[in-house]
Amino acid sequence: MNLDVNTLFLVTIYVEAMLGLLLLFAWVQNSAITAVAWWGSAHLLRAGSVVLFGTYGSAPDWISIDLSNAVLFTAFAVTWTGARVFDGRSPSYIGLFGGAVLWLAVCQIPMIAHSMEARILISSFIITGYTWGTAYEFWRGRSEPLVSRWPAIFMLFAHGSLFLLRTPLAAALPWIPDSQVYESVWLTVLSFEALLFTIAIAFILLAMAKERIEFLHRVASLVDPLTGIPNRRAFLEGAEVMAQRIDAAPRPAAVLLVDLDHFKSINDSFGHALGDRVLQLFAETTHSNIGPHDLLGRLGGEEFAVALYDVDRDRAMELAETIRQAFEDAAFEVEGYPVAATCSIGVAVSENAPLDMSALLGQADQALYAAKERGRNRCELATPEFVLHLDASTPSLRINHMHAKSAA
Ligand code: GH3
Ligand code: MG
Ligand code: MG
Repeated sequence: MNLDVNTLFLVTIYVEAMLGLLLLFAWVQNSAITAVAWWGSAHLLRAGSVVLFGTYGSAPDWISIDLSNAVLFTAFAVTWTGARVFDGRSPSYIGLFGGAVLWLAVCQIPMIAHSMEARILISSFIITGYTWGTAYEFWRGRSEPLVSRWPAIFMLFAHGSLFLLRTPLAAALPWIPDSQVYESVWLTVLSFEALLFTIAIAFILLAMAKERIEFLHRVASLVDPLTGIPNRRAFLEGAEVMAQRIDAAPRPAAVLLVDLDHFKSINDSFGHALGDRVLQLFAETTHSNIGPHDLLGRLGGEEFAVALYDVDRDRAMELAETIRQAFEDAAFEVEGYPVAATCSIGVAVSENAPLDMSALLGQADQALYAAKERGRNRCELATPEFVLHLDASTPSLRINHMHAKSAA
């Protein structure tokens, strides 16, 4: 099969322009991801470069060869810049125009200007450099869990490799004289591959941007923006997952319910901003004191919860005490102010599966209430007897009668 190169050029110009506009349109709809504008512009530039290539024979060589390639390299550089911007790096203007400037400079050297092999070699190096550079930028940002990152890296790497192979392949086909390059099967194959690549990469980049936006939305719906820890919804979802794991392989578990002491007066005395800092401090110190299978969440206001996996009663009380003491130490002085913040902790333990997380939270809430009643800055353990005791002696407390009865 041999496709007519002119038809391929026309199709490529049309497709590049449409993809460029599609990406720019997507960017206008959601301007949060600036990289999409870079990528759209790259496709439009590439359409422009193919228009210039198409003038070969009818326009001077400095337009159809020198300038067209310079525009093409800039298009690849713009895609690369978009990849940098996508992962929060700043554009590099040397990198952006370096390829085009280098190309225009070497085109002034007669030996290179008159050698097609030399031109192919240099242009291949420039394109492979930018394409692999783009793949590398995406690779560097791989800690962000976007599935579409991987096909992007693969496509860019493969495309760059093909351009590198172009040189030995072209050298292996020495019978194509410059004047017949337009009729060569080789040019058809390359143009066809370039067309398929440009379509694929445009959609992959668009998918990456969409995935990023969805990822940010998901994070925003599950993470507390002030402290960076799971919010109530995420904590309860995580606790549910822990409960299922315990159902499958029974282990003891515990819940700590934490409420900062006299937090209103901390706000009143030192200001809301310092209050915010104290909340962050609690999240930081507690996070560093729990294990990878444990769960910390901000239930709201100055109330936090910790779900501890595979801990018995003694270990749960020990951890609660560690958390309480660590916060007391860390919040004694905050940003130079004598804040002396403390917290009260209610602890509830489930020794056996199945784990009823909402029941456990209810018991921890009662224990927390008792910790407040008994003077604050302390940990209290909810036991069946304790719940019963509260039920009988302090009717004003928020007692979960159901649990008290079932414990009895
Ligand atoms: P107690 O020891 O009985 O828990 O006393 P408290 O003052 O901590 O209890 P209360 O529930 O009355 O006060 C909670 C305060 O927490 C009131 C509210 O203004 C403050 N608060 C809630 N969310 C935030 C927040 O995001 N930032 C700051 N700075 N304060 C908050
Ligand atoms: Mg409170
Ligand atoms: Mg409080």
